Amino acid sequence: MKLILLGPPGAGKGTQANRISERFGIPHLSTGDMLRAEIRSGTSLGNTLRAKIDAGILINDETISEIVALRLNQPDAASGFILDGFPRTLAQANALDKMLIGSTISAVVELVVNEDVLSERIRSRAAQAMSAGAEVRSDDNLSTLQVRLNAYYEATRPLSRHYDMKGLLKQVNGLASIEEVDKEIASVLNSILYRLTPGDLI
Ligand code: AMP
Repeated sequence: MKLILLGPPGAGKGTQANRISERFGIPHLSTGDMLRAEIRSGTSLGNTLRAKIDAGILINDETISEIVALRLNQPDAASGFILDGFPRTLAQANALDKMLIGSTISAVVELVVNEDVLSERIRSRAAQAMSAGAEVRSDDNLSTLQVRLNAYYEATRPLSRHYDMKGLLKQVNGLASIEEVDKEIASVLNSILYRLTPGDLI
């Protein structure tokens, strides 16, 4: 299954993508994680990326699409994946279509969440990381969240309609508990899996 997970920052995409990855045995491809790994490796590209990510600004479409294309060429992504954080713009969605020559996206799951819960979720994600002794994301603060949300509403939200027009969009209530969201996604994806022919799985 080739899946895309959509939703605003703080909607719980990372948590749910991990669960989908385990349940369906497909790799979780998070562009945020890929970019943070590049920053940690200390390359000059990493330094450029850091400034943008810290400011909550989107990385340009060409750079991120190249990174994703390289990752999708890895053997573990050949028969399926769950994309978390990509595409984020219509240009990226078009670039993804070109990467998938000969195959298509199976479904796009959107976590639907009100804006007013997001700041609390980001605040608690930062607090949890801190109490676990883990690194707190440099963009998990309220002022950067506002920039990230603006980017989401301006550039990413239109993807929901784009994929709906293609008959791929499955909306899930992201306000429910982690377990309930997990169950709802599993039931949506199981019904899709049931309809897929072996050829679609390649
Ligand atoms: P995330 O971990 O998905 O919240 O992403 C963290 C940050 O990485 C975003 O705020 C952007 O600066 C950058 N980023 C991640 N994915 C993309 C993408 N598909 N396009 C542009 N920028 C991205």
